Amino acid sequence: MTDTLIKVDLKQSPYENDMVHNRWHPDIPMVAWVKPGDDFRIETYDWTGGYIKNDNSADDVRDVDLSTVHFLSGPIGVEGCEPGDLLVVDLLDIGAKEDSLWGFNGFFSKQNGGGFLTEHFPHAQKSIWDFQGMFTHSRHIPGVKYAGLIHPGLIGCLPDPKLLESWNTREIGLIASEPNRVPPLANAPFAPTAHMGRLTGDARDKAAAEGARTVPPREHGGNCDIKDLSRGARVFFPVYVKGGGLSMGDLHFSQGDGEITFCGAIEMAGWLHIKVSVIKDGMAKYGVKNPIFKPSPITPNYKDYLIFEGISVDEQGKQLYLDVHVAYRQACLNAIEYLKKFGYSGAQAYSILGTAPTQGHISGVVDIPNACATLWLPTEIFDFDIMPSSTGPIRHLDGAIDMPISYDKT
Ligand code: ZN
Repeated sequence: MTDTLIKVDLKQSPYENDMVHNRWHPDIPMVAWVKPGDDFRIETYDWTGGYIKNDNSADDVRDVDLSTVHFLSGPIGVEGCEPGDLLVVDLLDIGAKEDSLWGFNGFFSKQNGGGFLTEHFPHAQKSIWDFQGMFTHSRHIPGVKYAGLIHPGLIGCLPDPKLLESWNTREIGLIASEPNRVPPLANAPFAPTAHMGRLTGDARDKAAAEGARTVPPREHGGNCDIKDLSRGARVFFPVYVKGGGLSMGDLHFSQGDGEITFCGAIEMAGWLHIKVSVIKDGMAKYGVKNPIFKPSPITPNYKDYLIFEGISVDEQGKQLYLDVHVAYRQACLNAIEYLKKFGYSGAQAYSILGTAPTQGHISGVVDIPNACATLWLPTEIFDFDIMPSSTGPIRHLDGAIDMPISYDKT
């Protein structure tokens, strides 16, 4: 039987589990060592460490302390792995924990996290998704069901001191350019809620004050939230410290490109079965700065899409220059308006785009002044026909249940 190197108890606070951490720092001690060629299992909390509950209120999404995330399992050391190597990680399989066959999706309040469409959806909302084997559906969003594309939102190796310093310098500089912005431009190190794994004493306190937050993707990978980095994929990670220090978490049962809802995909607690090996001096040999990966041989077999275009002209009609962020936002807003014609609320439509295996493409970035982005919505995930026709959309979802909403406390 494959060894489980890290176990998590969902009834226990992640702060009480010393094989878990929520910051990136080179001094966080390895919790286990393996050899190249070994395969093993790792259990993880959901990214909030169990804060979001399987209920019909969005109060927890409104109130969650985002300085506590993400709770990662690790770091794992690999014998013989050294800075400059590539750590090869085979994601042999990934699943939900047996005692937790559900996940959540939501949008944060603009006052606490915000998100991609926070100007349009400024209040906390939540949907709960139940898993039946490889499929998922939500009691808060009728008419839609799809197969999971299970992946870790967050996985990567520990930074070395120089890389960590460059992260903090550039991100703190960005925050300083607009210090009062809500939501903020980035998240600075924050010691009070840091969980530094097995680090103790003064070394722990120093590292807690310096440790990089886990929110953005960076050179080491980290919180990339790539739906196609799924079970069956092989990933090649840059290595910066002796042993590599591989950590992971933020498992998603499914996610659309962009993870546009931010809280987040379909978030779950679960396990990964992985295998590691090492390519000596692989970073220089292959010119690798950020991770590269080979996708899984197995993906949900959705072939038919309705594709929404968006250009870099914002909601007020302002012309922007080749702005892909604005163009993708327009594509998503166009898809939401379309789905509302079938009786979905805007929130339900937004949640579908954030959780289903929708594809996002940068379709054109040269035709000045407009970038063109596209949002690919799989038609086969719906219980009804969503294609346009001369009869017009049938509103069979009118009056159906909506997603819970929680307004800010004033
Ligand atoms: Zn996530």
